[in-house]
Amino acid sequence: MPEKKKAAPKAARKKAAKPKPKADVRGWAPGVPKEKPKGRTYDGPLSVNAKPKKADRIFFGTGGVPHSAKPQTHPAAVRRLHDLGLGVYEMEFVHGVRIREETCDEVMAAQAETGVQVTAHGPYYVNLYSLEDEKVAASRKRVLDTARALAKCGGDGACFHPGFYQKRDPKEVYDFICNQIGELADILEEEGCAVRLDPETTGKGTQFGSIEEIADMGGDLKGKNVGFTIDFAHIHARSAGAHNTYDEFGAQLELLKNRMGDDVLKTLHIHLSGIAYSDKGEAHHLELDESDMNYKDLFRALIDFGAEGRVVCESPALEYDALIMQREYRKLNGG
Ligand SMILES: [Zn+2]
Ligand SMILES: [Zn+2]
Repeated sequence: MPEKKKAAPKAARKKAAKPKPKADVRGWAPGVPKEKPKGRTYDGPLSVNAKPKKADRIFFGTGGVPHSAKPQTHPAAVRRLHDLGLGVYEMEFVHGVRIREETCDEVMAAQAETGVQVTAHGPYYVNLYSLEDEKVAASRKRVLDTARALAKCGGDGACFHPGFYQKRDPKEVYDFICNQIGELADILEEEGCAVRLDPETTGKGTQFGSIEEIADMGGDLKGKNVGFTIDFAHIHARSAGAHNTYDEFGAQLELLKNRMGDDVLKTLHIHLSGIAYSDKGEAHHLELDESDMNYKDLFRALIDFGAEGRVVCESPALEYDALIMQREYRKLNGG
């Protein structure tokens, strides 16, 4: 029998307990912080915003209240983005659709005054393919509530993550979720709610929402008020590092066009950020310059395909990275 190992001295034990650097997590330059340092407000380099020489066909903004908005509210977010020269605000209802009627009125007024486009991200706790009926019902309500609240704010695109496979047959999951989203669009239409439902491409293989599924759904639900959110960082992470070149971005845009028609590239709702990932997909979002996200080639592809729409920056740096994206897009677009 092997001799029982002596307990290591305290210092050595401490060292051993330290988590190993995640060698399998890729996408960012080692040594830089993974998350936004607390309290960093990005006041400095916001002067990157120069007026475009050529009209923008893609508008940029943030997913969530910009760090430099004062106070940290939805109406102040709209005004701050406008002051910065940005054009899109995605309200995050990711932990629940909670917004007061008066706030909706204020957002509506701010967006009418500034021209900033307003969209919303629904709660993360949505699974339209839950095996429990109550969870499906609750998920349906969360999606509907996102759209209803957004309509009151004068917005027009409700993004959400549709659900999880839970080891079920992806085709069965697809049919079920597609049917659910079709029904939800019908309910909203009956209510006179003009908000488009924009299911998102997701970052992990366990989550429903590959680009093929989202593109197929757009085709199958044609005629209903259903679009999609294409999150290029998620697609990159979901494939553990592929989908990050000009040709691959072009192939994605081609796929969307083929399944849904040419018009689809005129109303794109895009999410973009840096991202860290492993073989299992998305680990967490990153600032652009700390990541390997090849956004310049993405913009080249979007411009070459004549794409129009909006890009919501979901990096931890929010408005800072949104401005970097906008500057780069304008440079490539002849501005
Ligand atoms: Zn999302
Ligand atoms: Zn996203």
